[in-house]
Amino acid sequence: MTDTNIPAETATAPVYSVPQERRIVTAIPGPKSEELHARRTKVVSAGVSSALPVYIERANGAILVDVDGNRFIDFGAGIGVTTVGHTEERVVAAAASQLQDVIHTLFTITPYEEYVRVAELLAKHTPGGWEKRSVLVNSGAEAVENGVKIARKHTGRRAVAVLDHAYHGRTNLTMAMNYKASPYATGFGPFAGDVYHAPSSYPYRDGLSGQDAAARTIAYLEKVVGASDLACLVVEPIQGEGGFMVPAQGYLPILQQWCTEHGVVMIADEIQSGMARTGRYYASEHFEWKPDLVLSAKGIAGGLPLAAVTGRAEIMDASQPGGLGGTFGGNPVACAAAIAVFESIEENHLLAEAERIEQTLRTGLERLKQRYDIIGDIRGRGAMIAIELVQPGTADTTKVPNAEAVSRLVAFAAQHGVLFLSAGTWGNVLRFLPSLAVTDALLEDGLRVLDDGFASLG
Ligand SMILES: *Cc1c(COP(=O)(O)O)cnc(C)c1O
Repeated sequence: MTDTNIPAETATAPVYSVPQERRIVTAIPGPKSEELHARRTKVVSAGVSSALPVYIERANGAILVDVDGNRFIDFGAGIGVTTVGHTEERVVAAAASQLQDVIHTLFTITPYEEYVRVAELLAKHTPGGWEKRSVLVNSGAEAVENGVKIARKHTGRRAVAVLDHAYHGRTNLTMAMNYKASPYATGFGPFAGDVYHAPSSYPYRDGLSGQDAAARTIAYLEKVVGASDLACLVVEPIQGEGGFMVPAQGYLPILQQWCTEHGVVMIADEIQSGMARTGRYYASEHFEWKPDLVLSAKGIAGGLPLAAVTGRAEIMDASQPGGLGGTFGGNPVACAAAIAVFESIEENHLLAEAERIEQTLRTGLERLKQRYDIIGDIRGRGAMIAIELVQPGTADTTKVPNAEAVSRLVAFAAQHGVLFLSAGTWGNVLRFLPSLAVTDALLEDGLRVLDDGFASLG
């Protein structure tokens, strides 16, 4: 979208209200952030933590501005939420206009067009050419909960299967579906039953082909659960919190085929990987996987809370009228923003932008990998790219996780105006999850800071 070959009169290059450059003018966190943090600890639960306690006053494009006037390059995008860019102009205009017209009626009392339009867009852009239906809800975890409800109703079965290294949310059911107990579940039980954790595909660590990894997953499901009791298998096509694991080619379609043969609903949790993030509307498309149900959230409404379950009409329509819904689900303002997000993806050519971002990041990260042998793996798709760090000298052999290096790099980058998120079952993954508005100049600048960070590890 910064392509200078486009004649000026037809260019749709966005105008940024915040300079797209990092700038550090105080200690990090600065004095005003420190002050706010002191107030916060007196009133906000200690159970809610902040990765980087700088208090943000403005955000635009790929830049966050804190209360002390520091500007950060945002490689987190609120965990892949502001995919179209912070305060993207179409999203702002659509939401502002909707605020004037209708803020809330409750779709299950008196409906409105925006909800229907979002469902039409989801039917069009989710994988699979069949007839589809959607339900709109408020959060990713709520979409997961509804996906499971719908699959259970359709199949009349009880069991839910997930994969190792999965992350699905913080509600009671989804806590039971996560791989990692700490910090998400520790002490918060008892948990929902009938949730089974099957082995996944993690090429860097298991070295298995898609076929062999799928055979291992299926063997587990058949022996430990039994297909006839299994309502659904919930899978992130590229695992998010787990560390951006890209499954071996063939893995997902083989699982889908097994699910179809046994009447199991296969659900794609595309909450992090969907909505143009990976250079496709949905990451499932990279693997020729057409899931029965698709879950959207995070990036769908440009930062407003909205989530969806979308899928095969016969599965989605199995629920009794009144069985699905919720007070705020499919709020008109969030829906108006989501419609603008779909427009922004088309008009700003964001699928291509995601591929540009992948090229720039891969080139830069491959260069770093030549020089720093603790980079064990570079993986991901589009603007969902990560590096997995291991102890020196173990990258090709024992691959011993190196969480300390990730923490130190994240801290170093923050001090220099770059916001990175960590990830991974062992906390040893550094992820790039920028908005698709991020320029190559910002990516290069961020990579330079990362290079300095690696050098500083000694
Ligand atoms: C973030 C996330 C969720 C949970 O979404 P919330 O909106 O935080 O409830 C579920 N699945 C995946 C893959 C996620 O990344």
